[in-house]
Amino acid sequence: MDLSFDKEHIWHPYTSMVNPLPVFPVASAEGCEIILEDGRRLIDGMASWWCAIHGYNAPELNEAIINQTKSVAHVMFGGLTHQPAIDLAKKLLNITPKGLERVFFSDSGSVSVEVAIKMAIQYWQAKNKPEKKQLITIRGGYHGDTIGAMSVCDPVTGMHHLFKGVVNENIFADKPVCRFDKEWDDKYIYDLEVKIKRHHQDLAALILEPIVQGAGGMWFYSPGYLKRAKELCEEYELLLIVDEIATGFGRTGKMFASEWAEITPDIMCVGKAMTGGYMSLAATLATEEVADTISKDGGVFMHGPTFMGNPLACAVANKSIELLLEGDWQKKVQNIENILKEGLLAIKDASSVRDVRILGAIGVVEMKEQVDMANLQQKFVELGVWIRPFGKLIYLMPPYVISDNQLNKLICAIKEVVSFK
Ligand code: PMP
Repeated sequence: MDLSFDKEHIWHPYTSMVNPLPVFPVASAEGCEIILEDGRRLIDGMASWWCAIHGYNAPELNEAIINQTKSVAHVMFGGLTHQPAIDLAKKLLNITPKGLERVFFSDSGSVSVEVAIKMAIQYWQAKNKPEKKQLITIRGGYHGDTIGAMSVCDPVTGMHHLFKGVVNENIFADKPVCRFDKEWDDKYIYDLEVKIKRHHQDLAALILEPIVQGAGGMWFYSPGYLKRAKELCEEYELLLIVDEIATGFGRTGKMFASEWAEITPDIMCVGKAMTGGYMSLAATLATEEVADTISKDGGVFMHGPTFMGNPLACAVANKSIELLLEGDWQKKVQNIENILKEGLLAIKDASSVRDVRILGAIGVVEMKEQVDMANLQQKFVELGVWIRPFGKLIYLMPPYVISDNQLNKLICAIKEVVSFK
């Protein structure tokens, strides 16, 4: 592979074009392994950023795409529709919290967040409250890299200082400190409550990642927080937008993380694992109240991406959801959680480790110091695993089809790089 061309001309995520971090050439991927050009096989601990829940090169998913190419690979969604989109919308409405009734397809998670924000703003315009256009969120969040989504990412890790004056200034409440399994007390939501009370007349919505804050810090917080946040939204007339892009489709042990708090949001974003990691596709779901309010008196929702509802992506998403539902996913995720707990909790007291936390098929080791990503990445590859740490975090979110043996190898690799002192 022409790696020097790659280095000279191709931008990779979050890297310099002058001094890029090294990249490893992939020849193929199969099951839970990524196979490099030189033949080395790496056990995948990342599911390609939460997506590849059924592993790579899954025959059923391959077949779904190939079959779909035989009828229609893509048509515009303006003025046209097709069976894969209808089937997918039905499936999504069946598995998401009751009360979500309308589906807007888009092409990536970030865009689905933009769509959610625009829905919330148009909703309040239609209700004759155009002043309600600001957003409130919690620190430590991540919602994507487009300008609107960035405006609700954590202002520090989201580097808002680089985009001052461009990114909207929204309201940030403290990061939820109450751990997932700690007893809930309403005092833990005090800051959000105060800020909602103070600003609610200007606020269109509260947006947050339910239960698991992903790229902003891999933090798991109490369902009590989410439950109370929903109540506050109702009390102070804010819409609740939950971003289930990372947490959806079983990752936390529930089909959607909102279920931990038994809530139905007004708007929900899904993406990533929806296509089993095969294609870029996302959706923004809304309640009837949100959608119909925007649509009353001739109102239209102002969004329409070129690849909206792409049939290939919908076809593979339909198959991915079928595989998930047929495949006893809860048992698989539970088994991954058990093995992660057994393996990773053992290094909780290592002197370099600040915290270890596990929920569903997510295992996180938070170090005391920033890790040297390039070095650690190289070391992991030498150990035959694909684990990509960031900041102080070394974490696993493997495909659900990973074997116990493969998962234990991932855990051993982490134990090896985390030095015991
Ligand atoms: N929201 C969350 C919670 C995410 O984890 C991500 C992606 N890491 C996004 C939004 C953005 O999705 P995409 O990269 O598909 O635009």
